[in-house]
Amino acid sequence: MPQSHDWRQRYISGPILKLFRKVTPRMSQTEREALDAGSVWWDGELFSGRPHWQKLLQLPAPKLTAEEQAFIDGPVETLCAMLHDWEITHDRNDLPDEVWSYIRNNGFLSMIIPRSFGGLEFSALAHSEVVMKIATRSITAAVTVMVPNSLGPGKLLLEYGTEEQKKHHLPRLARGEDIPCFALTSPEAGSDAGAIPDYGIVCKQDFNGKKNVLGMRLTWNKRYITLGPVATILGLAFKLYDPEHLLGQKENLGITLALIPTSTQGVNIGNRHVPLNIMFMNGPNSGKDVFIPIDWIIGGPERVGQGWRMLMECLSDGRGVSLPALSAGAGKLACRAVGGYARVRRQFRTPVGRFEGVQEALARIAGTTYMLDAARTLTLGALDRGEKPSVISAIVKYHMTEGMRKVINDGMDVLGGAGICLGPRNFLGRPYQAIPISITVEGANILTRSMIIFGQGAIRSHPFIFKEMEAASDDDYKNALVKFDRALFSHIFFFMRNFVFSLYYGLTAALFVATPGPRKVRRYYQQMTRLSTAFALLADTTLLILGGSLKRREMISARLGDILSQLYLGSAVLKQYADQGHMDDDLPLLRWSGRQVLCNIQNAMEGLLQNFPFRPAAWVLRFVIFPWGQWFSAPNDKLDRQVSELLLNPSPTRDRLTQGMYIPKSLDEQVGRIEDALRKVIAAEPLEKKIRTAVSDFDPQYHGVEAVLKEAVKRKAITPQEAEIVRQAEAARLDVIQVDDFPPHLGKEKVA
Ligand SMILES: Cc1cc2nc3c(=O)[nH]c(=O)nc-3n(C[C@H](O)[C@H](O)[C@H](O)COP(=O)(O)OP(=O)(O)OC[C@H]3O[C@@H](n4cnc5c(N)ncnc54)[C@H](O)[C@@H]3O)c2cc1C
Repeated sequence: MPQSHDWRQRYISGPILKLFRKVTPRMSQTEREALDAGSVWWDGELFSGRPHWQKLLQLPAPKLTAEEQAFIDGPVETLCAMLHDWEITHDRNDLPDEVWSYIRNNGFLSMIIPRSFGGLEFSALAHSEVVMKIATRSITAAVTVMVPNSLGPGKLLLEYGTEEQKKHHLPRLARGEDIPCFALTSPEAGSDAGAIPDYGIVCKQDFNGKKNVLGMRLTWNKRYITLGPVATILGLAFKLYDPEHLLGQKENLGITLALIPTSTQGVNIGNRHVPLNIMFMNGPNSGKDVFIPIDWIIGGPERVGQGWRMLMECLSDGRGVSLPALSAGAGKLACRAVGGYARVRRQFRTPVGRFEGVQEALARIAGTTYMLDAARTLTLGALDRGEKPSVISAIVKYHMTEGMRKVINDGMDVLGGAGICLGPRNFLGRPYQAIPISITVEGANILTRSMIIFGQGAIRSHPFIFKEMEAASDDDYKNALVKFDRALFSHIFFFMRNFVFSLYYGLTAALFVATPGPRKVRRYYQQMTRLSTAFALLADTTLLILGGSLKRREMISARLGDILSQLYLGSAVLKQYADQGHMDDDLPLLRWSGRQVLCNIQNAMEGLLQNFPFRPAAWVLRFVIFPWGQWFSAPNDKLDRQVSELLLNPSPTRDRLTQGMYIPKSLDEQVGRIEDALRKVIAAEPLEKKIRTAVSDFDPQYHGVEAVLKEAVKRKAITPQEAEIVRQAEAARLDVIQVDDFPPHLGKEKVA
């Protein structure tokens, strides 16, 4: 070993290591396992401060196979046509029997199960496309389909099940004979799910005619369990104890997962919660001293106590697919149907979508949806290449469901009363009610933003922190010192590099950063590189100053998480734009989302610096990162106008943006009516202009449309055929703007 390292280790890294070991608790095996769960992918590049854009661009865009496409064009279309959301969520409070049967019999619950077990074995992309399309039709049906394909018995069996368990359960799940659910949440343990009070005691008991069977007696009380009320197989998380040492020396064995047929004696299941009128099955379940044999543990006795790790590992897959699909679906629905409505609906004799106030909202809907779809696609590509990007899956869970909240809220504002009056014509009321559900499940959003994204990212995705922690927890001090020294000095060099480059990029506005892609997008790549370097610098300085106490400083952690997340969303839109062929027509969408991302990063950095705990560091950092002051601005009015127009006119860009949503052909469906009316209204607009000029002395409100049309034909301003075009457009427009009404008691018995 070179002399200089001896000196370094004795006077620098040695003392730091000792201090580090004193102040940082040793990583337990379980902690290391939890941190090991999942993989580092593009998040690592963003943390490095030097993202290799070429690497991102070279990743193949995910594509559906012919078979997957056929499923989406066939059974998914058929299912969507069978779904009438008002009937489901208001009249029946459940999916109709024929829909349940169709879902069970056509493999919708087995998208992740391999063909060898009778499943569909779809890619993450196909899985997402299926859920997304259904979500644009009925969130109740989408949740019903997505849960068994997400984190639940199917996934856990695939990853950890014994061969026997797989052979027994997977074909039954694939055939839809069993309906699964997974129960982790308890009244006392929601976000803090590791604290579940539910427990099992290892014991022996006679069971199913067999004597002295080794097993456990379980006591639990769970709530909010999706599909619970109709489940035939219950996945259960509980803490296992072995006071009689029937399994070994340890008494407290840790969180364990088992599969229990709901017909097992003592299982209480069937009651329902009402999750905000989204009528998928969801409810509590419980059991007291329910005996189950040891081989019902998922993965058998070897997997005792590994439940938490198993859940964490599977979470990144499910979280990266289901809720992002739901959110992108909501965005597409808002783009297509709210955009169409805004063109058809007139006030002050103008389509409401042409008022600047509404254009702002429409631009947000379109730009946000572009980002949502880009982030969805990029993440699915990673999952299909076998990545398990845990930090990125937390990013997309949080930001896509928040994006859904934004687009639906804007959509509701644009629809006005038509969004508020519920009924079969209201296509946005139920998605609006569904927002808090997607915000809360799979890691509630506040917690995900404040604790998980940067908290996990700093350890997992940072190039050196995990190495330093691992080195410090090595029991052999000599070994630990060598590894720690190496990681520490690389880290110091990394910090210095980011300091210098942040200043250089700030002073030169990153103009000299070499980037890929055509001229029109070059600046976005350059600025993203600049901000990624600044992020790495900010992250390190914050960790240096706050150390372990960052865990409690959630507002600081949240802002760092926001920066990392926006860097990911920005990367996703650049990749999407490249994958779709750098099309000029889509450029407004890229510009809008690119500007928004850069501005969001700047705001998060500014918020962080304003609240930075050590003021002198904040002053220096602000100068280094923004030497010319605040540089980035949100999309301007001109861009907002351009982007909003994309939603008001049929075009290939609008089709690309809304690709994969369900568009009903029937004119008995509101989204179908809007599609039809949009085409008719646009065709009639130039004719209406002619009529207004030629028959200006006829007020349609006083004389009626028919009289005006007749007069226009008489004066030869339009032909009879053209009059018919206007007549049809008017009828379609009037139909679209109707809302539902019901008898005074809404068809229900009055309560005495
Ligand atoms: C419709 C629905 C379906 C569900 N399906 C299932 C299912 O199938 N299986 C299952 O096991 N569970 C399921 N859940 C449970 C879901 O995962 C929990 O609701 C979720 O984990 C949050 O727990 P909680 O509702 O008890 O909120 P709480 O834990 O009480 O949290 C309340 C608020 O505090 C915030 N918070 C908590 N801790 C922190 C922290 N440290 N820092 C910052 N903020 C924090 C949360 O973000 C949240 O905003 C479902 C829930 C719902 C509503």
